[in-house]
Amino acid sequence: MILILTPNLNTDCEEYRHLMGALSNLQNIQARVHREQGMEKSVTEIYLIGNTASLQIEDMKALPCVEHVVRVSEEYRVLGRHKADNRATFFDYNGVRFGQDTLNVFAGLCAVDTPEHVELMMRALKENNQVCTRMGAYKPRTSPYSFQGHGKKCLPFVFDLAGKYGIKVIAMEVTHESHVVEIHEALDATGNPTGVMLQIGTRNTQNFELLKIVGRQQEFPVLLKRGFGITLDESLNAAEYLASEGNRNVVFGLRGMKTSIGEPHRNFVDFAHVSVVKKLTRMPVCVDPSHSVGARSTGPDRILDIMHVTAQGIIAGANMVLVDFHPVPSQALVDGAQALIPKELPYFLEDVQIAREAYEKRVALSERHNSKVMGDR
Ligand code: PEP
Ligand code: MN
Repeated sequence: MILILTPNLNTDCEEYRHLMGALSNLQNIQARVHREQGMEKSVTEIYLIGNTASLQIEDMKALPCVEHVVRVSEEYRVLGRHKADNRATFFDYNGVRFGQDTLNVFAGLCAVDTPEHVELMMRALKENNQVCTRMGAYKPRTSPYSFQGHGKKCLPFVFDLAGKYGIKVIAMEVTHESHVVEIHEALDATGNPTGVMLQIGTRNTQNFELLKIVGRQQEFPVLLKRGFGITLDESLNAAEYLASEGNRNVVFGLRGMKTSIGEPHRNFVDFAHVSVVKKLTRMPVCVDPSHSVGARSTGPDRILDIMHVTAQGIIAGANMVLVDFHPVPSQALVDGAQALIPKELPYFLEDVQIAREAYEKRVALSERHNSKVMGDR
């Protein structure tokens, strides 16, 4: 059960002490407090864990400071959508909103190589009014002999350049606790010119110890990629690990499933699950067309498959697009075959806009249809 307290609550007040006293008297029930400072207001929620079936919603609502009570089902307690659940479906980070109603594009390098390439990319982003990007510093690779990413060495120039070109959020994969510390330290050392969204890659979706560590910090939001060979439910539970440890600023990423059925694409595109994840949880949903398709193949209409599946994700309501670009794909150290080039960025973004407008029209159409059906009843 979740008690949502009155917004902007000062927890130093007498009523709050009464509330906590009353909760501590409940038998076999633990209360976990979660506070979230948003741009407009602060939210305090209390998670009651244990034998909550015996509690009455009305009794809990009558306690001081309690504005709303949600009885959660077993599934995805923190991130899930439950009956009468009016909790937010967005979060703000470094001036950027991530929600189930917004759309952010993260175009950038799969793996950071040279400062020149990073700068060319960042400049193209700025020229196209983009404030988010992807920049891989720690790369989990199939072969131990493949390039593993420059690691912490590249962070200072990546962050400096991000600041120079007005980038506010960089999606960056981490595979180990030390990477989170290194990112934090490098941001500090460069004067915090940008922000980072920590990415948990598909190979680590069920690395529970990593999830717990990343979940315990609340400085950085997290992009959790769906595991490529596990069920959706298992991947959503992985996201719940982050939230249960305290970090609920989580975006859920679809990136295709590993199966030969998806050939000739690198992975079987799973963007039909965009609306499923949005219904089951309050997380914004990201699609990664690059790792799904894996190549610059085109249809007979000469549209890249990567752009076709991007549009498929967006027209179904996706909230974030993570897409590989590289100024000189032939020189990319990772995944050059699937990279778009900066010259294609305005074209890509215009295509994204077409799909987004189509989605918005579809939502409006469905609202008109549903209110007519209701009126006819
Ligand atoms: C990536 O985004 O660079 C990546 C490795 O993705 P995934 O974990 O989905 O393979
Ligand atoms: Mn890649």
